[in-house]
Amino acid sequence: MKVVLQNLTKIFPSRDKKAGGEVVAVNDFTFEIPDGKLIGLLGPSGCGKSTTLYMISGLQKPTSGKIFFGDDDVTELATENRGIGLVFQNYALYPHMTVKQNIMFPLENLKGADKMSKDQMLERAYEAAKLVQIDELMDRKPSELSGGQQQRVAIARALVKMPRVLLLDEPLSNLDARLRLQTREEIRRIQKETGITTVFVTHDQEEAMSISDMIVVMKLGVLQQIGKPQDVYDDPVNLFVAKFLGTPPINVLEGEIKGGKICIGGAAVLDAPGVADQEVFIGIRPEGFELDENSALECKLSNVEVMGRDVSIVSTHENSLNPVIRSIIDADNKVDVTAQTVRYNIKPHKLFVFNKETEERIYF
Ligand code: ADP
Ligand code: MG
Repeated sequence: MKVVLQNLTKIFPSRDKKAGGEVVAVNDFTFEIPDGKLIGLLGPSGCGKSTTLYMISGLQKPTSGKIFFGDDDVTELATENRGIGLVFQNYALYPHMTVKQNIMFPLENLKGADKMSKDQMLERAYEAAKLVQIDELMDRKPSELSGGQQQRVAIARALVKMPRVLLLDEPLSNLDARLRLQTREEIRRIQKETGITTVFVTHDQEEAMSISDMIVVMKLGVLQQIGKPQDVYDDPVNLFVAKFLGTPPINVLEGEIKGGKICIGGAAVLDAPGVADQEVFIGIRPEGFELDENSALECKLSNVEVMGRDVSIVSTHENSLNPVIRSIIDADNKVDVTAQTVRYNIKPHKLFVFNKETEERIYF
């Protein structure tokens, strides 16, 4: 089921009338979620991810704009009639019910033509439980399960009605690191097996990048960029997106364009033909550095960390906005750890230039 958001906006009135200042939680959102894909809705806390998800689910009513499932306008449709499955960060299971009863619960309320017999409900519940691999735990209570297992029950409960759209709001945030990794792979597997169009909300860029067909990056209620994870990483439209994706994060330096060259503190590092002279921000991915004794860009060497396959070099430069510059190079390179300085070449496709006022990308 394709999902289309059209000029979707949500404004919350101020809680404190005197202080004024309404909150524009989601600002003129337009994008299309293709049928059968998993979309990662990504941005820092408070940027409007949950609000967007709740509008798709019908739990919150948009201030303006429209939502379509396929060709149907569902903007005014009640949540229970949208055919969605919802999973929250805090599993929200009924503690007094068994796993089986929890999963079957959404089916008990079906009415009219959809009404199911007890046997049909059980069959469906077991199908959903098998999909998330908890069919052995059906008679336990939630308190007798680990966090990861509880979240699987919540996912099974969301799947049992065979939703047209699956909506997940930070579903892994309460799990420890190892379970988080395992469960996100599970979610991806289930999504591929069922082909259900899925929106996965997270503030964790690595999580979103690893499982999404497409990511949607948000900032303060405004959509910044949509694309395949690798494409957005390789080609960010502005400094915010460049900084939000990647670990270690992108290195940002103050620099200038002068006579068609990109300069950092007097050192010309690359050509930028046709770009007018101006001050800029320069972003360089950690993997964008190459050791080169003859290069003009010199940094003070602080530390060299060998991490098996890679070497991480920590250095400083007075133009750097981050406290240190972190570069990652292949461990085959020999680094003189006793040296005071280190010199770098920059790989052209790993360097981005941004307007200093607007922080928009300058293309060349
Ligand atoms: P996220 O899920 O990305 O952390 P939210 O969608 O929860 O962000 O919130 C977006 C913005 O809207 C925040 O500034 C938040 O304080 C505000 N907000 C969310 N829900 C309400 C509400 N019910 N009333 C007023 N403001 C709200
Ligand atoms: Mg949220």
